[in-house]
Amino acid sequence: MMRTYPYSHAANAVKERQIWDVLRAYRQSAQRIANDQWKSLFITGSMEKDGSICPADHIISKRYLQTCQRQVVGVLKSWLSNRKNDFRMLVIHSSLWKDKTEDGERLRIQLLFINKHGLWFKDRVVMRKEVIPAHVMRLARNLFRRLMNKHNKPSFRHVGMALDAKVARVEAPNKAHSAEFPYWLTLATLNPRKPIHIPLHENPYALAADGDEKAFVQINVRRGTAIAGQLGALDIARIKESAPVFSLERPRPQIVDTLGIDVGLRTLVATSMGELLGRNLIDRLSRLDAQISRLAAERQRQRLPVHSRRYDTLVNRMRSFLKNEIGRVLNGLFARVHPAKVVIESLDFRSPDLSRRLNRLVQNFGRTWFRQKLDMLSEEYGFLVEEVHAAYSSQTCKSCDYVAKNNRSSQSKFHCRFCGRKAHADPNGAEVIRQRRSLPEYAPWRSKRQILQATVGRFLKRWTGRLSGMQVNSALRLVVEGNPYFADHRAAIWPGNTTTD
Ligand SMILES: [Zn+2]
Repeated sequence: MMRTYPYSHAANAVKERQIWDVLRAYRQSAQRIANDQWKSLFITGSMEKDGSICPADHIISKRYLQTCQRQVVGVLKSWLSNRKNDFRMLVIHSSLWKDKTEDGERLRIQLLFINKHGLWFKDRVVMRKEVIPAHVMRLARNLFRRLMNKHNKPSFRHVGMALDAKVARVEAPNKAHSAEFPYWLTLATLNPRKPIHIPLHENPYALAADGDEKAFVQINVRRGTAIAGQLGALDIARIKESAPVFSLERPRPQIVDTLGIDVGLRTLVATSMGELLGRNLIDRLSRLDAQISRLAAERQRQRLPVHSRRYDTLVNRMRSFLKNEIGRVLNGLFARVHPAKVVIESLDFRSPDLSRRLNRLVQNFGRTWFRQKLDMLSEEYGFLVEEVHAAYSSQTCKSCDYVAKNNRSSQSKFHCRFCGRKAHADPNGAEVIRQRRSLPEYAPWRSKRQILQATVGRFLKRWTGRLSGMQVNSALRLVVEGNPYFADHRAAIWPGNTTTD
């Protein structure tokens, strides 16, 4: 596992400005390289980690360009691997591909083959000694493009630098350095053969941690410090590859296979591991809602247009509040938990407690931003994101699969009427969402009716044997018999022998 350790530095203002010059040029180059890599993908069908770059288009040196290109391609490939997963889910689970004929089956296999090997934009692909026909290639290309367009491509405008030894080296002080500092960073600048030397203080956590120093140096702008036209504070960090690390700084992230996430406005995020994050958003939003609604009503009464400076200020305040909360909660979560896959419901930020106006605002903005933030983190940490249908997840028991309206006894309480389990409602929902992963019957494009059928079906598959043997008046049987969701199934479970006639 890789960990980064920040080292506080003692660069003077002149050197700091030189680093900023490099950083700005580096970001420009990164964006340009990314554009070239997209072009390369669309034209030749692949990206090139070590492709040749024309130095005339760039300010930074050739050696910087090489390290920059590796970083950019790494980020783009991780983004593409998420789209690859979207593609696979689409082909396996979408009703578009229900065709069970031999032709339908072959088409599916060909599409999955193209996707698995990342050949969407190749002209000619051979599978098992046969050339895949042009119309299939075209279909794969169009599908993949459509999935790509649904997500923002990674931007490099604010990227930090991940530098290898060609341009940045950390060493013990030599004769030319002051021995007061334990390390010196030698960093290439925009001036050829004029590197700068930056003294670094010790980081006790890095010193205490086992593991091999990697020959990588990261230079990032500290979050929130580059404001109002100011240059932000620069963080210099080294990377250590380690076996299990003991760190005082913060606990080691927990590695999990699949993490289910339930998103809402009362609790912003509940996880299948039982965490509740970002609580009571709704209180602050309700207050803003009241202010916005009052203002809008007042202006309408005076026959003025609703939009005004004051109105926009309030709306912006709501947006930045939501944006900050989403950022804070998700950053914190993925610093602690490293999943291979995240399963989320199709996002819905509506709440019956807010006005229609604010629901619309929150819905449009919150959804977009949440998904963007999650995509950004999925690139950073390399996890996959899968969306599943959310219907009835809050009414379904994660332990026994029983679904009933009255399982949800209040906004926050879950009480299963079949197995009796009591829990907080949100983590239960998150776990149900997690369990829905990779199941075609819970794909986001299903109807609510289909989701209910699938959920009832799952429960019955598991419990019918037990149910059919129950006495006419047994309490559990009465519970299921009285549940309208099971109305269509009573006769099948208890043929010719029902209590409700
Ligand atoms: Zn239950």
